[in-house]
Amino acid sequence: MGMDALQRNGYRAANFCDTSGNPPASKVYRAAKIILSQKNIAGYFGSGSGVASQEQFHSARGLVKAFREVWLAIPAVIRLGGNSEDLAVKILTEYTRDLPAPIEGYKKDDPVEFCVERLDALIRESHIAPQPRPVQPTPSQHTYSFETPTGDITFDHDACLNCETHICVETCVPQILKLDNGKPVLNISREDARNGKCIECLACEVECHFRGNKGGRINLPIEGLDDRKGGANGNSD
Ligand code: SF4
Ligand code: SF4
Repeated sequence: MGMDALQRNGYRAANFCDTSGNPPASKVYRAAKIILSQKNIAGYFGSGSGVASQEQFHSARGLVKAFREVWLAIPAVIRLGGNSEDLAVKILTEYTRDLPAPIEGYKKDDPVEFCVERLDALIRESHIAPQPRPVQPTPSQHTYSFETPTGDITFDHDACLNCETHICVETCVPQILKLDNGKPVLNISREDARNGKCIECLACEVECHFRGNKGGRINLPIEGLDDRKGGANGNSD
């Protein structure tokens, strides 16, 4: 459906990636990073079926992490139709507002054709100068780390002690975090977190960045991509 609409508007898909089937946010993140590593891309388009029973905020957080890491400089339009679509669109648009490129989010009642027309308009109207990603804070020496199924998470406990919200604990979807003297730690064993109790929802990084004190960081390696430079935006960390 989306591919046909893109073709009708004169575009050719440089990459088609299907992340349906209730993907974890980490999977959507990796897919977006791989897609954006390609050169000469005019825009980024994502469209769900609109009837998905999966929580769309997982996809939104995955996209936010990817778009922020490449400091997106090409327009993006994402149709996040399905469960929790209001929250998903809010996460996608509010947490990418400071990026160089315009990013728009739509819901299931917004037709695919309209979404493609919006992407076309943004590509034609936007004159975006790529910018380097702002320097990220270096973690202090007081960190707490654990492994997830496909990566690892680090909390900078110095930042956490000065955090007013501890929003990571509230927004952790499977509720596997707790506060220990004002610092987030696992409330399950490290082994359980590594074996899948951490569902890599990315809330403890994405929500922390905007509603906490930037102490949460999730490292999700992408084999074959991490050493490369360049791509659609020139940033690749
Ligand atoms: S929201 Fe961020 S800064 Fe605040 S306690 Fe959680 S990880 Fe630390
Ligand atoms: S620790 Fe919780 S909030 Fe963080 S990625 Fe894992 S499941 Fe999500």
